[in-house]
Amino acid sequence: MDISELDLTTAHKKLLEKEVTSVELTEYCLDRIKKHDSKVKAFVTVSKEEALEEAAKADQMIASEERSSYLTGVPYSAKDVIMTEGLETTASSNILKGYKSSYDATGIKKIKKQGGVLLGKTNCDAFAHGASTENSDFFVTKNPWDQTRVPGGSSGGSAASVAAGEAFYSLGTDTGGSIRQPASFCGLVGLKPTYGRVSRNGLISMTSSTDCLSIVTRDINDAAVVLENIAGEDIKDATCAREPVPSFSAGLRQGPPSNFKIGLPKEFFEENISPEVQEKIEQAIKQFKELGAEIVEVNLPSAPLGVAVYYILTPSELSSNLERFDGIRYGYSAATDKDQTPADLFEVYTKTRGQGFGDEAKRRIMMGTFALSSGYFDAYYLKASKVRTIIIKEFKQAFKEVDVLLSPTSPHLPFKIGEQIDDPLTMYLEDIFLSAVSLAGLPAVSINCGFATKDGTELPVGMQLIGNHFDETKLLQVAKVYEQMNTWHKKRPEL
Ligand code: GLN
Repeated sequence: MDISELDLTTAHKKLLEKEVTSVELTEYCLDRIKKHDSKVKAFVTVSKEEALEEAAKADQMIASEERSSYLTGVPYSAKDVIMTEGLETTASSNILKGYKSSYDATGIKKIKKQGGVLLGKTNCDAFAHGASTENSDFFVTKNPWDQTRVPGGSSGGSAASVAAGEAFYSLGTDTGGSIRQPASFCGLVGLKPTYGRVSRNGLISMTSSTDCLSIVTRDINDAAVVLENIAGEDIKDATCAREPVPSFSAGLRQGPPSNFKIGLPKEFFEENISPEVQEKIEQAIKQFKELGAEIVEVNLPSAPLGVAVYYILTPSELSSNLERFDGIRYGYSAATDKDQTPADLFEVYTKTRGQGFGDEAKRRIMMGTFALSSGYFDAYYLKASKVRTIIIKEFKQAFKEVDVLLSPTSPHLPFKIGEQIDDPLTMYLEDIFLSAVSLAGLPAVSINCGFATKDGTELPVGMQLIGNHFDETKLLQVAKVYEQMNTWHKKRPEL
């Protein structure tokens, strides 16, 4: 058996068939990390001892037939904005360097209970602000398909760890595209659930009204399995919905929905899409037609305003969420820094935040504070909120006509490290097809739809499918029929 070819669900089957142990799977991943992570740089923390202990426990669970789900015994990684008790959780920011979580996020707790094995924490753009991991205060993660290119972001470390075969799946977050775009750049499946489907308890808040704990896997089946095990009502998050959680994997076994209809948002296809991406998306649409899907054009006139609205509302929310990092309660403090001599409490705040936050966090705090300030609130925050309501209505209208919507995930192939970093506006436009979906709280998945060759290297292309609120079952069913027609998800980068 070649462990490198296993996905999450087959790895688990091999565990049950006693062909492999959880300790062996974990050692395999730790070995991959040791061999390749100096190049890929997906991890900020590797928790080797803890992982081996959890694996030994999982083996016992399996031996005594206590295993509760597919997650038992399978190693995974988690983005460094997700709280993991006893381990450092830094959000890849200097201000949180050295901060140890005092509790597990609800998603982590659920996986732990089922005997999941956490390998460590993955790099991201600091506080999840970005689309390339270049905004990490620590280092840049490399795309395993081409190490001169970005893996996407902000959950770039999560996606890279799965693409590099260092973990079987990863938990990340998606606030405006941060799971879908890196999944697309790394040739994987990236699932952002409906807002409220999964608890936000234990996520370092970026934008409370759009943050979603999200999933990166090798295929659709694995994404369904992880989702059904982390989703559901949570007393610790009042925005987490009471909606019952169906078995998404059972939903997949039922096959595709009959006579499904796919909508192509006209406004998205009018954007500047690179020829390589355009070609693969057209091929995918053709394949859906061959499958018998009805394809129609739909209008989402306000969706292109998504990025503009997103960059008013999210800085506003995050400027308030980041207020708690004041040098008193968490992580770095100028008060205890030998090189700083704050004269009073006010200077503790200013020096801590001045030193601890990177440029992008500061830029967003300033934008948000400005948008919320008196005299500007109506012109910016209020207006953007109204446009958000219109965006939601337009999506709702579209879902009266179609089952899912389809678009590229990113308008282009993964870009070169350094190519866009000095141009924040270009970077913000990375999420042109993703922000509106987040503002509307809809579930969406990015799935690989082939490879394009650029400068002699094969690079993955991603397609976004968007579902109606709480209809992840249908979304995943449609994604799965497409996946079954192709073999791209079986391809692995050479490292
Ligand atoms: N790229 C977007 C941003 O920089 C999305 C981030 C996210 O989803 N966390 O805000």
